[in-house]
Amino acid sequence: MAAKAAPRRRRQGSAARRWANRDVDAIVFGMNVAYFSFHAELRDFLVNGQHDLCYAFQGSPGIKDPVEALGVPHTEVQWIVVNGECVGFDYRLQHRDQVQVYPPGESPGVTPAVPVRVPPVGSAFVLDVNLGKLARRLRLCGLDACYRNDFSDRDVAELAARDRRIVLTRDRRLLHQKTIVHGYWVRATDPDLQLREVLQRFHLHHQVRPFHRCIRCNGEIRGTDKAAVLDLLEPLTRRYYTEFYRCQDCGKVYWKGSHYEHMRRRIERLTGVAPPPLLKAPGPDADTAPAEAAGEG
Ligand SMILES: [Zn+2]
Repeated sequence: MAAKAAPRRRRQGSAARRWANRDVDAIVFGMNVAYFSFHAELRDFLVNGQHDLCYAFQGSPGIKDPVEALGVPHTEVQWIVVNGECVGFDYRLQHRDQVQVYPPGESPGVTPAVPVRVPPVGSAFVLDVNLGKLARRLRLCGLDACYRNDFSDRDVAELAARDRRIVLTRDRRLLHQKTIVHGYWVRATDPDLQLREVLQRFHLHHQVRPFHRCIRCNGEIRGTDKAAVLDLLEPLTRRYYTEFYRCQDCGKVYWKGSHYEHMRRRIERLTGVAPPPLLKAPGPDADTAPAEAAGEG
């Protein structure tokens, strides 16, 4: 194998020289080698920012295995180009392959450009236990965000498969699970920045519909007669408010308290979208309403 590999390596030019030491090591041990270049934000997963890597292997593994062995979850990959042509995850890696790996939003620069997977259907999410604050913000924007603080990794993977949900997590290892098709490793640690990141990554700004989902349980919120919820209201809430909404799943009652406009402005600040109000403009007595009657109920 070494006798065949040496002259071909010389034709690799500067790229081969950059990987020369690892290449020689692999040849000494009789292994195959392939050359991987990771682009754009995929480099977030690589050690010391090294984005050109030599991968030594035996046999002809499916290309998903080396991509993940080098640290990049398969869910983060949108395009793989091998020796100038797009391939799928079923491609078997060959000795001396030149591999370019791209995330969504990047162009692979070849024709035809065939992604490794079809885009997700819809924009329903399931969130890992470390993203509770992001879940509340997504729900506030009216987006479908399934979350519980006792979800196991298995729960998240099963919900993603059963309901075709996109997994959001801060644990990159979770995204290595084979059953997860669509997922994203949330980079930011601040919940407001996380929301912006997810909206941008999945192009969700046009889907923002504030006050249509229950912040507590993710159920849909619909209007309800005041008489239907009268027994659930505090005396001052009964007095000052006439328009009510209720979660269809957990029954939580919402109304337009003094907190409402604050939340609207916050959504606009976070999403860059001026959301149309679901509820009517505040009445003349709203400003005098007590704070405890405001907001989420
Ligand atoms: Zn609810």
